Amino acid sequence: MSNTPQVPTPAHILADSMLSRHFGKETVNYFSSSPLNRLSFLRSEHPFLSAALKHPSTRFVLLKDLAPLTRSPAELYYAKYNEVRKLVPEDVYDRPEEDMIKEFDSRKTSAQLIFLGLDESRKQDGLAWKIYNGTPYFALDVTPKGSQEHQSHAKDIISSLEAQGLSFYQSRVVMSLPADEAAIYAQSRALVDWNTRNTFCGTCGHPTLSVNSGTKRACPPTDAALVEAGKERPGCNTRTTLSNLSFPRTDPTIIVAVLSADAKRILLGRSKRFPSNLYSTLAGFIEPAESVEDAVRREVWEEAGVTLSRVVIHSSQPWPYPANLMIGAIAQVSDPEHEKISLLHDPELEDAKWFEVDEVEEALRIGTGPLGEQAGPEYKGGLRLPPPTAIANQLIQAAITGDYITSQKSKM
Ligand SMILES: [Zn+2]
Repeated sequence: MSNTPQVPTPAHILADSMLSRHFGKETVNYFSSSPLNRLSFLRSEHPFLSAALKHPSTRFVLLKDLAPLTRSPAELYYAKYNEVRKLVPEDVYDRPEEDMIKEFDSRKTSAQLIFLGLDESRKQDGLAWKIYNGTPYFALDVTPKGSQEHQSHAKDIISSLEAQGLSFYQSRVVMSLPADEAAIYAQSRALVDWNTRNTFCGTCGHPTLSVNSGTKRACPPTDAALVEAGKERPGCNTRTTLSNLSFPRTDPTIIVAVLSADAKRILLGRSKRFPSNLYSTLAGFIEPAESVEDAVRREVWEEAGVTLSRVVIHSSQPWPYPANLMIGAIAQVSDPEHEKISLLHDPELEDAKWFEVDEVEEALRIGTGPLGEQAGPEYKGGLRLPPPTAIANQLIQAAITGDYITSQKSKM
């Protein structure tokens, strides 16, 4: 299929360095390697944001209930300012952030707007600001909610876009976009979702205000809505220090391809919700006060009863469902005695098995496909594996093709 998403290529793929000679090329996973320069230090510079907002080159990624606006499942639609101005007043960045916090009024609804960054490969006709130049990108939540007025503006925007044949692509996991767009969508989705879940302060329970162009939330000391009712906002611990803010979460998880002691087999598992014959690498959340390597060893022992020795971190994948960072590892058992599988500890997996490398190689060739879709035309039953857009696939490939392992071995 022509719309098969590509796994991103690192920008420095041809660059020679001691590290790349030693460790081989970097694996870059789907949803990472965004073409945008985030310019995080400009997120509170309102004159910049104001210029970016109204610049003719500027592109808006629109989400409704976290579904991205698309031309097709393989192409995002980027809206222009004119198409969203009803939800984004021209003066939205006119006042400094400190004033917005002081004048906070929880009765007002404003659309969640997030500055994503500049695409510096699109300098022509782009925005020039100080030494930075490119096409600005924003994400905007157009979900109808809040005040009646806000809802009707959102509905107007949605219906005029849908009338052009565009649609909000509803899918539990969107993985059909090309690599660059997938990274832009991942950033948009993760931040819109975090803002939506954090409209109240986690410490005092009162409404919060989006600041830093959608990448922080403040707990303002006053609220015009309460003042009018003759009430005060209670003190809040987050305000007594400089931490009058909450920041977006990223929850680390581990995912691991496990090699047997002789490196001729690989350990894979399947959960109950997988289609038949689909197996994948084991995965789980990193817990507080746990290293990545310890989490890998704990999860594999808990889920499969296998005791690991060495763990090597391989690559990582942002996973915006809702806010994970998957840290991919390759690990090995040092003693064949430790390979015995037991599902009796944590009953999370329906099955876990050691697969011969030959069988895994064949499955990588003909048996991959997204969850819920068919494997390729050559597939005739047997082992199925996740597609290359999943870090699981990259880890399995690295573990068995020896790209990674051989470079380690050759140093021994
Ligand atoms: Zn608070």
